[in-house]
Amino acid sequence: MAVKIVNLPEIKSLISLKSFNTFKIGGFAQFLTEPSNITELSKVIAWSRKQNIPCHTIGAGSNLLISDNELKGLTICMRKMQGSKIDSKTGIVEALSGESIPHLTRELAKKGLHGLEWAIGIPGTIGGASVMNAGAQGGCIADHLISVKVVSIEKGDLFEIKKNELNYSYRKSILQKEKLIVVSASFHLDPGHDKNKLKKLINDNLFHRLSTQPYQIPSCGSVFQNPLHHKAGKIIEDLGLKGLKKGGAEISSKHANFIVNTENARAQDILDLIKTIQEKVQEKHGFLMHTEVKRLGFEEIS
Ligand SMILES: Cc1cc2nc3c(=O)[nH]c(=O)nc-3n(C[C@H](O)[C@H](O)[C@H](O)COP(=O)(O)OP(=O)(O)OC[C@H]3O[C@@H](n4cnc5c(N)ncnc54)[C@H](O)[C@@H]3O)c2cc1C
Repeated sequence: MAVKIVNLPEIKSLISLKSFNTFKIGGFAQFLTEPSNITELSKVIAWSRKQNIPCHTIGAGSNLLISDNELKGLTICMRKMQGSKIDSKTGIVEALSGESIPHLTRELAKKGLHGLEWAIGIPGTIGGASVMNAGAQGGCIADHLISVKVVSIEKGDLFEIKKNELNYSYRKSILQKEKLIVVSASFHLDPGHDKNKLKKLINDNLFHRLSTQPYQIPSCGSVFQNPLHHKAGKIIEDLGLKGLKKGGAEISSKHANFIVNTENARAQDILDLIKTIQEKVQEKHGFLMHTEVKRLGFEEIS
């Protein structure tokens, strides 16, 4: 793999994106960088503006399907921007964008802070979760979020956005549309809880996930959003689609809303399975199932 340092030491070229997403799929990034602080981030954004090339932001790549083609422009992976400030008395927490959700969840429990136990099995970053309004078991990121700090890709300025300006709803926020990079998120959690009880709850949640989802096989988690009052997985399972294969991809036999990469799948294999599911659901139920997974390097579609 050709790796060339260009201009700034931390910008590399022609890097395979396969190890930057949990599907383990994708072509090469024209340029890729992993800033570990805001200064580095500002520098690389300024560099991309000077080059007049687009910027793509990724966290842990756990909700992403990346095209097999070369991804033009600068890919900024935020997973190295880690750390958090936790005030166990007030429950106020500020976590940097690249902080891993499971890691933060465990740290909060150790300090008796209640509110994010549902998040233990979500293998993303705090930045990605704030953008996606990640959630499970009736909880979601917006529940305890106070605000996010962002850097604008177009102007390079750093500013704060309060929760009520982010238009959160089920797996949606305005951050999915804006040219902003989340650098940190602040939360207000509930202090003073029994640490052992929180730990047990977390372990039980994780156990439940491991037993119901194909956790060890590359995937992006749930491919489709749940339609109102329905479970996407149940709809797909009832259509008899579990186990359906295309190339190296398969609709999981363990959980029908997961498409798994069992054997060097290409992005097109995943897209073909998505299309098949959407067509069958449309045929049987008369509505379009919308995807939860975000696409990178493709034309935007539903
Ligand atoms: C096994 C498995 C289980 C999962 N279970 C759940 C679940 O229960 N609930 C759930 O909601 N999700 C679940 N997911 C999906 C995923 O983990 C979440 O959506 C997570 O919040 C994505 O975070 P990420 O850092 O991986 O974001 P990425 O996948 O890297 O990015 C997602 C989107 O956010 C943008 N983005 C990422 N970081 C930033 C940033 N710092 N600034 C601006 N934009 C950014 C990207 O451009 C992209 O559009 C699961 C995934 C897997 C693989």
